[in-house]
Amino acid sequence: MRHLSIKARLVLLHTILMTLVIFLVLGILFSISSNEILSNVHDTLMTRVNESYEYISYEDGLLTFDNDFIEIRDNIYLSAYEPDDTALIYGKLPRGFNRDVAFEEGMIQEVDIGEVTYDVYDMSVPIDGYHTIIVRGVVSLTAAQSEFQNTLRIALILLPLLMVLEVIIGYLLSKRAMAPVSKITSTVKDIRSSKDLSKRIALKGGSDEIYVLADTFDELLADVDKSIAREKSFTSDVAHELRTPIATMKLAIEDVLRHDLDQEVKDDIMIIKNKNDLMAKMVSELLNLSRIDQGRLVIEKGDLDLSELTEVMIDEFKEVATNKGLTLESKIDQGIIIEADETLIIRLYTNVLENAIKFAKTKVEVFLKKEDQKAIIEIRDDGIGIKEEDIPKIFDRFYQVDPSRNDKGSGLGLSMVKWILEVHDASYEVQSKIDIGTSFIFTFKIKG
Ligand code: ADP
Repeated sequence: MRHLSIKARLVLLHTILMTLVIFLVLGILFSISSNEILSNVHDTLMTRVNESYEYISYEDGLLTFDNDFIEIRDNIYLSAYEPDDTALIYGKLPRGFNRDVAFEEGMIQEVDIGEVTYDVYDMSVPIDGYHTIIVRGVVSLTAAQSEFQNTLRIALILLPLLMVLEVIIGYLLSKRAMAPVSKITSTVKDIRSSKDLSKRIALKGGSDEIYVLADTFDELLADVDKSIAREKSFTSDVAHELRTPIATMKLAIEDVLRHDLDQEVKDDIMIIKNKNDLMAKMVSELLNLSRIDQGRLVIEKGDLDLSELTEVMIDEFKEVATNKGLTLESKIDQGIIIEADETLIIRLYTNVLENAIKFAKTKVEVFLKKEDQKAIIEIRDDGIGIKEEDIPKIFDRFYQVDPSRNDKGSGLGLSMVKWILEVHDASYEVQSKIDIGTSFIFTFKIKG
């Protein structure tokens, strides 16, 4: 029972309860009516026998019987006898009834003959001018009961129909009763999948416990939504506030570096400069991420020649790679157009190429090819590689595989890349082997 849904449990309970009630009511009705039928049969039998003298007369030395005597009414058969003889003078008996049944006046005898039960009622009837004769009334109880059994049969056919009806009504009722719960579940699922905390259950038209629960849940959602919004604006406010001191420090550091300094001091100042640059980069990435979170980062998609843009990016990064003693090679299919925001695709290339150049040992390769209405970008390096268990985490915010090896990283670059891919409905795959290298593969749909 526990593994059943509440709806199914309600239907089951409702059906069991209603079936019990129906059986109980029908049982009571049947026992009342079977007693009623019996006493009715007895009454009719006695009345018919008691009234039978009206049909008998003695005229001109002849015992005469009206047609009414022989007529079978209410399944009752009348027959007349001499008092000391069971030989029939007049009348009819049900087929198969044994005429040797002894007379028992004034009481109803129940006689079983074969499968059939008869009620027999005998009465002495004095006839004017003649002596007393005996009138016997015989009725087959089985005939009376068979009518009752017919009713029972109809009831037995109706009962399963009633039960089916009960299940349907029970299902509809419980569905209606559980509708608010389904609404709560679907809203929560919706919020989880769309990550949109502004959605509400907003149940209307009731005041029972479930409506109170839904309202309370909506209030909780509003609180969570507010505090997340506060947190988002806090990140963006802090990032904004940090921009000015970082920029001032940058100017001051560059000023100091212009002076003639001891190499030792110069080295220390360079460390400060690098950290300041990293801080500036982090602040700018944080600002971007908070803009994304607040839905303030405007995406302007248009037709973008990905082949052309990739070539521009290669040209831009060639110098950086060469300065690090690396080669940057590329193989680009021409004329690939996608619908994309150019600034965001530039940012994607920048983040991934910077990483590749940072980690490569000798070379970085970029491939762009067209395959079945898809544009596939692959950025491959022969660097340190990423452990298999770390691959799913590198797209998380602030995740760095080994922060000590990566003093120019913030752990935010790939989370930005992931978001850019999402808004372009593009997919990604990372293939990597420790000390052999890493490949980032992005698949975009081609327009048209
Ligand atoms: P960061 O700004 O620190 O580089 P990213 O989000 O760009 O942050 O990358 C997350 C982590 O993924 C990095 O700390 C780095 O260890 C790992 N990573 C990214 N690209 C590569 C690569 N090409 N080779 C090896 N490790 C990489």
